[in-house]
Formats: sequence, structure tokens, C-alpha cells
Amino acid sequence: MLSSGEQNLIYTAFRAWPKELLNSSYAIGLDKEDHEYEGETTAYSSNILLYNSNLTAHPFLSISTIYHELAHQLHFQKLSKDLDSYLKSLYEASKKDGFNFAREYGLKNYKEDIATMWEAYTTKTMKLLTAARIKTSERPQEPFFISKVEVAAAVFLHVGQDGKLKTFIFEAEDNFVKKAQVDLGIYRLKPDGKLEFVQTIANRDPIVPYLKEYLINGEIVLLPVIPDDITTIPWEYFYFKPNG
Ligand SMILES: [Zn+2]
Repeated sequence: MLSSGEQNLIYTAFRAWPKELLNSSYAIGLDKEDHEYEGETTAYSSNILLYNSNLTAHPFLSISTIYHELAHQLHFQKLSKDLDSYLKSLYEASKKDGFNFAREYGLKNYKEDIATMWEAYTTKTMKLLTAARIKTSERPQEPFFISKVEVAAAVFLHVGQDGKLKTFIFEAEDNFVKKAQVDLGIYRLKPDGKLEFVQTIANRDPIVPYLKEYLINGEIVLLPVIPDDITTIPWEYFYFKPNG
């Protein structure tokens, strides 16, 4: 049985995600017995089990665990075959060490690579983008990390009211999630010098180099355009207020 605090936290985490990415039939279970892992998702079904074995050290279920399990569900149920094989190839290309992984656990297999990367994206997008920028400059010949982040950003791709492609960026704390809408796209340089959006991340060719922040192997990848002053982003807040 979930406590009302745990229910609120799960509700907060879910509410910050676009509802079209969520499956209406998720079954959430929480198991307070001693488990080695914090969470578990049942592949190809709609079950997410969340364990919380140490209530003293972790008085509340963590939002990143919820997002990790949601990421598995999103991968299993919503990801196209093209993107799935693309992510598999990124995993294979990068698995020689942990450099191009959101955290070590992602090395386990490509599914955990995806889940840890999307968990990081939906928990702290800005932090992940900073890591991507640093890693890309350290190993420009192995742009796998940034390619994985691109796909994470593409998962939240949608058309905004101004007709432009947008994505969401997130910042989760212990008891709330902030979500903001930002521009996103891969751009192609047209002969007239103007930029044109390429609709999907999976459809990567031909992409003409265009100098911007992320120039990788002669290919520009335009990740979420974040204003320098983070406070200018109109964040939408999703709060969890622990009762008592
Ligand atoms: Zn996992």
C-alpha cells in the first residue's frame, strides 16, 4: 500500500510528463521489503514496481527512480524501431568504458543505457547538457553521449503554438518538478542560407554542417536552445507537498 506522500510524489512526477507519452494503464507497486534495487519495471507490460528499502536514508521515494522506470516503459511501449536500433548501435559503439554513459549502471545493457540517460534528462536536463558539452570536447571523435541526449530530447518533441518544434527540459528536486518548453531541432542549411528543420532525429541524413554550440564530426546537432539566463524560462511547476 502506498502512503499518501508516495502517491503524491508519483502523481507529481507523472503530471510533469506529456500525457501522450504515458500509458493509461500503468500499475504502480511499492514494496518496502529489503531489495537490492530501488525500482523495477516489467518489460512489455504496464507494471512499475518501486522499492524503497531504506526509509530512514530515503524518507521519500526518489523522483529519479520513478523517471528511470517510466523511461523503461516509454522505451518498451512507444519508441519506434528505427530509434530503438539507433540507440542499440550507440550503446554498442560506446560500451568499451563508462565515458559516454549517464551513469555506470547504463553499461549493463542498452536498455539500462536508455533508461539511465532518459532518467538523467528528465531529472536534470541542464546538468546533462553541460556533461554532454564537456564530453564532446574531450572526445570529439566519439560523440555518443550527445547523440544519446539528442534522442532523449527528441522523445519530448512536439509542435508549439508558434508552429516551431519544441521539447521539454526538466529540473526535479525532492518534492517538485519544474518543466519548461524550449526550441529544439536538427537544422539543415538550405542553399539560400536559411535553416530548415529536419523533422525527426532518426532521419539524420543529409545534415549540412552549421556552426553552433554542438559541432560533431562536421555535423551540427542543435539541442534544446536554452536562454543564458535560466530564470527567463517560463517554468511550469509540479509540486509534491508532503502531508505532515
Ligand atoms: Zn533499469
